[in-house]
Order: sequence, then structure tokens, then C-alpha cells
Amino acid sequence: MIPVNTPLLNGNELNYLSQCIKTGWISSEGPFIAEFEQKFSNYINRKHGIAVSNGSAALDIAVKALGIGVGDEVIMPTFTIICPAQSVVTAGGIPVLVDSDPLTWNMDVIKIEEKITAKTKAILVVHIYGLPVDMDPILDLCKKYKLFLIEDAAEMHGQTYKGKKCGSFGDISIFSFYPNKHITTGEGGMIMTDNDELTERCKKLRNLAFEPKARRFVHYEIGWNYRMTNMQAALGLAQLERIEEHIIKKRQIGLAYQEGLKNLAGFQLPLPKTDYAENIYWVFGLVAENQELCDSTVAKLAELKIGTRPFFWCMHEQPVFQNMGLFKGESYPVAEKLARNGFYLPSGLGLDNESLKQVIAYFNV
Ligand SMILES: *Cc1c(COP(=O)(O)O)cnc(C)c1O
Repeated sequence: MIPVNTPLLNGNELNYLSQCIKTGWISSEGPFIAEFEQKFSNYINRKHGIAVSNGSAALDIAVKALGIGVGDEVIMPTFTIICPAQSVVTAGGIPVLVDSDPLTWNMDVIKIEEKITAKTKAILVVHIYGLPVDMDPILDLCKKYKLFLIEDAAEMHGQTYKGKKCGSFGDISIFSFYPNKHITTGEGGMIMTDNDELTERCKKLRNLAFEPKARRFVHYEIGWNYRMTNMQAALGLAQLERIEEHIIKKRQIGLAYQEGLKNLAGFQLPLPKTDYAENIYWVFGLVAENQELCDSTVAKLAELKIGTRPFFWCMHEQPVFQNMGLFKGESYPVAEKLARNGFYLPSGLGLDNESLKQVIAYFNV
């Protein structure tokens, strides 16, 4: 079996984890949390990092901390994981969707401005699969229309846009440390911002909205328990020490696939680079020229015990949102095609050379 993802845990993980056990610091009160927050925000060039229980939690907090609520519109890609749309919908807001660029698979920045209305509060960018969104036009729009920028950089640890780290662009940016990301804490996430007030807001919201100054257990608003544990932060610190190696390994996997699959007919490969970034290959995706080819390839790989994962499913085609009356009659042809014809190959950091060769060999018979 070649799984679609295996993590790499070959640094100080065990050492730091055993310190948690030995000292008894296992909750969110432990000392590794602040250390991880500080070291990761230094790495991303951010003033503040707020560690949370996962990336989805980070998005919930980001949306609420910015005051996005009932009736507020947030512009985002339709081709993404559900988390960003879910956070906006649960806050009472309305996701306003944008189609994808057929080559980068990211939100098509040309199509954003026409979606801006008097109700628009924010643009939520999601960097997809390995290449960042083209940020300059979005930064201009945010300035021109006074919109917040939320940046979902959950797949972009260490990636840069024109030399500046992804995760350093938004009023609030978020990361995930799920085991298939460039560094992992098992489950985990981080909110990043340069704003002191937003930082206090986010810290409060992750901790049941306990009032810093009021009597303990007296609450004035609803928050969540989205705290990260010291054990997660222990993993995160060990992983962060090796992040540059992880990024190199991801790019090696990506380039090996690019080289090994360069003569492949019927499939579109990821762009190796754009004029603003080099692909970091969070995953190595393939888009078949039609759905039959996609489905039959995935089925044949499964027979050979080679794991794949289908691409995201569009937000406007999600039954849960359609049943709420959202996105009626909307269509986004580029994203729909990606969702139907796209899948990704084993791309995890733990992928060994033998397995990589085996996957490539399948496509070259
Ligand atoms: C992984 C991911 C998330 C969610 O992170 P979790 O930690 O799994 O909740 C959010 N957005 C994107 C783009 C992701 O890839």
C-alpha cells in the first residue's frame, strides 16, 4: 500500500513529547505553546501567532474576530475545502463565490471586483495545492473598497509570494498543522496577525470568551474551546526545526513527478512556477481531460494499492449549502471541471523513493 499521505516525524518529536509527560504539562497551559507561537510567527514574519486546536477553528475565530456577522458578504473561491465557507455561514455571513484560474487552480483574481457590493466585508483567499493566489490585485481591491483580507495559508507553510511569506498578507491569516501539511501537530492550527487588538480578541475567542478582567466564569459573549495542547505544540516545535528540509523534500517529490510524467497524454500537471512563486507541491495534482479518464485512473491506481484523493468539491455544489438556499443557479465552469476531473497522487513527506518510482512507473507503461 502506498498511502496518499504519510507524515515525517524523525526529529525531536519524541524528546519534546516525553518532556510533556515527565513534567505533567499536557494542557494548553504548558510552556511549549507560547514558544511555538513565537517561533512560528518569527518564521512567517508576523508579530503574533495564536495557536488553536485546528485550522478550521482558526477560520471560525478569524471570521468572528473581524466582526463578520449576519448578512455580511465574504468573497472566496468556490474551489476549496469547506472550512472557509463553513466559518462564514455559521457566523451568519454569506460566501460570495469566484471561479478558478484553469492553470494555477486558485481563485481567478480578474473575477473578484464584479462580486463586490455594499455588503462585502472581506476577501478570503485560499492558496490551493502549492501555488499562492496572485496577491497584488487582491491587496489593491482591499485597499480600494476598504475590505478585510483573510488569508487561508493552511497549505502554504514556507511558500512565498514575490519573496514575502504566505500567511503574512491578511489582516488575519491562518495555518493548519494537520498531518498532511508541511509541518504537523497531529491536529492543530495557528492564527497570525500583526494587530495587537485582534490578537487579544482571538485569544479570548479560543478560550470560551473568558473575560480577562471580569470575575472568572462570568461571560459577556460566546466563544469556543479551541485551545491547542502542550503536546501538540511539542510536536510543532520539533517539526518547525525541520521545516526547510520538509519543503525541500516536497519540492523534490513534485519535481520527480513533473519529470516522470512529462510525456503523459490526457492529463494537465501542476504549473512548476508562475512569475510570483515556485510551486511548493503541498500535493501533486493531476487534472484528466475528462471525468471518465479521471475515474478509471483512480480505480486502476486503487487496484495497485496506490492511494489518491479526489480534488475539492465546489462550494456552490455542496448539498449542505444548496439545502440552505445558497448559490441557486450559480455555475463556475472552470472549478466544476477541476472538481470532477482532478485528483492527487501520494505526496506526503514520508513517501520513499521506491514508492515514488512505482507511482511514476504506472503512468509510463
Ligand atoms: C487543511 C486545510 C484546512 C483545515 O485545517 P484543519 O486543521 O484540518 O481543520 C483549511 N483550509 C485549507 C485550505 C486546508 O488545506
